[in-house]
Formats: sequence, structure tokens, C-alpha cells
Amino acid sequence: MKSLWNNKDTAQCQDALDLRVYSSRLLGGEPSLVLHGGGNTSVKITERNQLGEDEARLYVKGSGWDLATIERPGFAPVRLAHLQALAELPTLSDPDMVNELKTQTTIASAPTPSVETILHAILPYTYVDHTHADAVVTVTNTPGGEQHIKEIYGDSVVVIPYTMPGFDLARVCAERFTRERTDNTIGMVLMNHGIFSFADDARKSYERMIDLVTRAEDFLKARGAWELPDWKPQPSATDMRHGLASLRQQISEQAGFAVIMRNQGDAAMLGFTRHPDIKTISQQGPATPDHVIRTKRLPMLGRDVAAYAGQYQHYFDEHEKNAKEAKTILDRAPRLVLDPELGLCAVGKSARDAVIVQELYQHTMEIILRATALEQYQALPAQDIFDVEYWDLEQAKLRRDGKPPMFQGEVAVVTGAASGIGKACVDSLLARGAAVVGWDINPAITDVHQGPNYLGLECDVTDVNAVQSALEQGVRAFGGLDMLILNAGMFPPAMPIADMELDAWQQTLDLNLTANMTLLRESHALLQQAPQGGRVVVIGSKNVAAPGPGAGAYSAAKAALNQLMRVTALEWGKEHIRINTLHPDAVFDTGIWTEEVLQSRAKSYGITVEQYKKRNLLQIEICSRDVAELAAEMCGPLFARTTAAQVPIDGGDVRVI
Ligand code: ZN
Repeated sequence: MKSLWNNKDTAQCQDALDLRVYSSRLLGGEPSLVLHGGGNTSVKITERNQLGEDEARLYVKGSGWDLATIERPGFAPVRLAHLQALAELPTLSDPDMVNELKTQTTIASAPTPSVETILHAILPYTYVDHTHADAVVTVTNTPGGEQHIKEIYGDSVVVIPYTMPGFDLARVCAERFTRERTDNTIGMVLMNHGIFSFADDARKSYERMIDLVTRAEDFLKARGAWELPDWKPQPSATDMRHGLASLRQQISEQAGFAVIMRNQGDAAMLGFTRHPDIKTISQQGPATPDHVIRTKRLPMLGRDVAAYAGQYQHYFDEHEKNAKEAKTILDRAPRLVLDPELGLCAVGKSARDAVIVQELYQHTMEIILRATALEQYQALPAQDIFDVEYWDLEQAKLRRDGKPPMFQGEVAVVTGAASGIGKACVDSLLARGAAVVGWDINPAITDVHQGPNYLGLECDVTDVNAVQSALEQGVRAFGGLDMLILNAGMFPPAMPIADMELDAWQQTLDLNLTANMTLLRESHALLQQAPQGGRVVVIGSKNVAAPGPGAGAYSAAKAALNQLMRVTALEWGKEHIRINTLHPDAVFDTGIWTEEVLQSRAKSYGITVEQYKKRNLLQIEICSRDVAELAAEMCGPLFARTTAAQVPIDGGDVRVI
């Protein structure tokens, strides 16, 4: 591991806290040091308080901040003398400790200081850096872990036996550190947890971390335990989506809410799930206890969700007996699945959660393989993991969790999503917490949104192979399909029936009608597996009720699509799949309506563009967003008892009425 410190970058740093932000980000940017909110850092700074007195404060990482992206407000300033006095107490409950940390913070709006704050306070160095470095965790998660650590580090680190994070850990560290530190001490290794480095200089503390972790990596290399297996590429199946959707349905049912499930079926994951000792090496526990909050203690091997739930209940009953206070059981559904056919499935309440679970396990897998190559992978006893999983601070967090967004854990597909109504539907569904797959023939679809909740796929909906492939990719990314917005369509140039060209007619029917029938057919089995029932919204047209001359192909296709919606409702109602149509009219902020077209249409009526846009009973303009919001609501609880409905969104049209 190399130091990334660059004096050019630190030239802009104004003070000790700026340097703290800088080196924290260096640590946070390296996934083999910290992952997703893991690790923490601090700096001790003396400042003048409102009474004109000098006061030493510990600026420590606040909860909810990630080292990779932390900024100055991410550090909470806590009165150092008070923290050091707290460290002398014989006991302090975790809720009381958190209360002390909050009430001794000098900025009211600061985030809650890390639970490892007191530990930072007792270390007599200006800068303290803490990570859960993969290499160190690998070495400590073996039967001979402590011996290996002594061999690697000698007296340059103090070794702390595993202790639950919080006040007790701070106490143990204080005792051990005072007793065992030498002039060579530059860090502290916490068995089965992570590593600390410290110094009075920001760069020195950071580079000590890099040096200590490099020593562990070199040790693994010297023992032939560094190189990961060279997995042979496995032929990847092309039709996993029904198996995945069924698994997600079962997991959602067990969890009591819809989940997002990400699949990773690359050579490494398939190789790992087919490892001859997978039953042993995958069932030891997490690499570091704080993963348990997201991953649960053990991955599920295979797909028997009921058996997993039974084992989880047993684990809870076994270990709750030893807890200080009564605990509320969490849901009994797995967060990780290892299956020889599917590879890895990572489960979360949202797509972001699922990505985090996946990355945690990617690292865990490497840790397991290296520890196995070194000696044997040995995680903490189940009771220690249980204590972190059911820590009262974590249980309190659960009770604080507010109402989830409407479509949390659900997956939507929107066709024709690169522009206009389709693009607006993506926004409306994302805003309600859904994971959204946008399809479009326009390659710009891939960049319509960034972030874990969105997947953009180039797809020609008139090509059945492309449709199957897009459904497959969407299910692999998110686990299933709950909502489908049939929006892709075309508005061909006006053509009277007397002059109708068959090619143009057929093209309109292919896209506006047949492609939707194919997509409904191909989606049916997936929608059947939707944990809360499938929902389809058809973007129809005013032309269904009020056709216009010259629009024969368009109007006939949309009317037939509408009829298809009614038949679908009849066939799928018993499976709790709802389908409804929206009939928009005069939505002018879409691709077809250029300023030029608007001008000429307005002129032909002898009115202004402004008047032309509001040519309806309510005299209001209708935007893509208005249609999209209604489409999203039609998938929600408001329309839970409605199927086969046709709702106009046209500002009121005399011909429709
Ligand atoms: Zn830690």
C-alpha cells in the first residue's frame, strides 16, 4: 500500500482540521482500508470558548459521515477534559455514553460523535486514525492471529483482545496502552476488528497507518496467502431472471417488506460459491463485527429461505438469553445468498443498501480466502456478533427509522425513458424510492441518471431478444420487476387513409401496439413474483376517445393497446396484477413538439402559442411531469383497488366528455 499524501494538495489547508479532513479522505478513498462509513479519525485542537478560556477539544468523525467524502462539519468537537474524565469511570452504559458525547459537543448542530470517541480521547496524540484494514483483519481472523500480529509488528503496536466497541473498548485500550506502550509504539491492533495509528502530525499518523497495513500485506505475501485463486471463467447463463425473481419474492415475504437484490455472477463469485469447503468457510461469521448490521452474521447457502429463517430464530433465542435487556428480533431474512448457480445475491432495503452489502461481501470473500491460505478463517464467536447486531444503540436506531418512501425496495421498468413523459416517469418513481430501469433506443438512456437506484439500458422494444435481454439485466441488478410503465411509442406524420402507406402503418403498429403486447407477455412471470403485486401503467392517448383525421395508424394502434389493457386486466386480476391507462393530451414539453411546430399550429388556429398550449376546459398547461406523477401514483396505494381504469389527463376535453 502506497502513501497518497501530496504536499501540493495540503498547501491549501489552513489549519489542523483541514489536514484532518484531507488525510481522512485519503483513508476513506481506499476500500481495502475502510468501507461505507467504517473507520474513524480525530484531531485534538485547543480553542477559545465564549468565556475567553482556552479549551482542548477532540474533533472526531460524526456518525452518518463517510471518511471518503467527509468535510469539516463532519467532525464533532467534544470537550477533551470531560472525555478523559469519563474514561476513568468504572462503567458507563452506551446510551449514557452517547448522551455525554452529545451534551459535551460544543457545536449544537454537529453530528453525533462516533461511539469510539472516548478511545480517541485517551490516546495522547494530536492525530488518531482508525481503519478496518482488510490485511489486518485477515491476519487477526485466524486461530494464530495474535501470534502472527506479534511477529509482524513486535512492539510497534499494542495488541487489544476483542472487546465490544463503545465504553468497554475504550477502558480496555486505556489500560493496555498505558501498560504496554513502548518508545516504538506507533499503533494499536484490535483483534478481529481493525487498527489504529497515531502521531502529533497529520502526515505521520496517516503514513504510519499505510506502513502498518503494508507490513500485514507483506506478511501475507511472504506466507503465500496474498494471491487470490485464478478463477476460470464460467459460462454465464442467460436466463436467470425467473429464478432470481422467485428468490427475491421469498426473501421479501420472509422480511415483511419488498427488498432489492443484486446479483453478482462473475467468475470469482461463481468460483467462490463452488469452493469445495464453502459450507465451512462461509459459515464462520463476518470479517469485522460492524458488518453484521448490514449483512447478518451468516450468508444463506442455496435458496431455502424458510430453513435460513429457522436457523436465524434459533441464533436469536440462543444468544438473547445472555443479553442484559430484552431484545426485539429483527426480520429473519438473509442479506447475502451464496448459490452455486447464481453466485452472490446481496439484499437490501434499497438499491444503495444492496450495493453496500455486495461490496462488504466482496471484501469478506477475499479476507476468507487469504485467511484460509494463511491458516484458517476464524471469525468471532456468535455471541460477540449477536451483541453488536442487537446493541442497544442499533436497536434505538431501528425505532427511530421513519416511514420508508412509497416504493422502497420495489423495481420499475419505464420504456421510452430517455426523454419526455418516460424520462419524467423515471424521476417520479425515483422520487418515491423505487429502483428504476430506463429503456430507450436512444443511447443517451444510460446517463439519464447516476447512482445505484438507476440502470439505463439501450433497447429496441420491437426486438423480442432485446426485450428479454433488458429484462434479464434489470432483474440481475435489482432482483425482480414490480412496476411497468408502457410509454415507448411514436407519432407518425399525418397520412389520410386514402393514401396510407402500408410500411408506415405497420411500423406504427409494431411499436405502439405489438411491442407492448410482447413486453407484457415477457414480463408476466416476473410481475407474478412481485412481492406486493405487479402494476402496469399504459400511456395511452386522447386519440383513443377522440381521434383526429390523418392519425389513422396512431389512433388505431393506441385504441388497440387500450383494448389490450382491458383484456390484460381480465386475465391478470386474480394474480393481483393491476393495469390502468392514462390518456394524456397536449403535452408539449416532449420531443415531438418543437417551438416551430407549436408556432405553426397556433397560427393555423389564429391564436398565440400560450393560448394554444392551454386549449382545454381548465385552460391549463399539461407537462410531462404532471403525467409522470399520475403514472407513479397509479402504481401506489391510492389506486390499490383500481384496475382497467382509463384516466384522462388533458385539462378537460369536450370531445372526450
Ligand atoms: Zn472500528
